[in-house]
Amino acid sequence: MINFHPDNALLAAYAADTLPLSMTLAVAIHVEFCPTCARRVADLERQLAESVLIADRVLPEEEHLFDDMLSYILEQPSITVPVQAEEPKIEIQGQTFWLPRALRHISRQNWQQMGNIGRSRLLLDDQSSGRASLMYLSAGAAVPQHTHRGIELTLPLTGVFRDELGEYIPGDFVLRDAKVAHQPQSRDGCLCFALLDAPVQFTQGLPRLLNGFGDLLY
Ligand SMILES: [Zn+2]
Repeated sequence: MINFHPDNALLAAYAADTLPLSMTLAVAIHVEFCPTCARRVADLERQLAESVLIADRVLPEEEHLFDDMLSYILEQPSITVPVQAEEPKIEIQGQTFWLPRALRHISRQNWQQMGNIGRSRLLLDDQSSGRASLMYLSAGAAVPQHTHRGIELTLPLTGVFRDELGEYIPGDFVLRDAKVAHQPQSRDGCLCFALLDAPVQFTQGLPRLLNGFGDLLY
């Protein structure tokens, strides 16, 4: 069962569509996995829609203005936005993984590999809120122990990872900040969505050897 969920403020911001793109993706993925949060988002969206309808109620004397505006909008030529072909599954090291719907149209960089950790960065237009990637921990992989200057969100898509604070299954919304030093690892392999808004800080090991990992993770 999923144990880690976005908090109420995050769900409300998601429903109101005010989150940066990378965090919108994170919540959208979680909602695909979590029926509880999906229901709460649907409720929040309905409440928002109702409040907008009440606020925008058109007075009878303004009706013609509304009609004019509507016909103006309908007369405008429609714009076609090029969309990347849907990619429902990906192959990593000879294994096939299904992607959540929220990620299927997002372009990605090629995989970079360091030891038994792979990373493919998502190419988002809006980088203002941090860097989003797919991370793949091969069986037995461990990320060197680190803490965060900002936030780190890890959301397993397939497989399980664990750290000093617990074990996380697909859909878990694992949000960590600078207070936590941890060493994520996976016994059987784990594909994750990962989001960082600042480089990590390693707390053990030789900095010279860890620089490469730092570049890989951020
Ligand atoms: Zn949830």
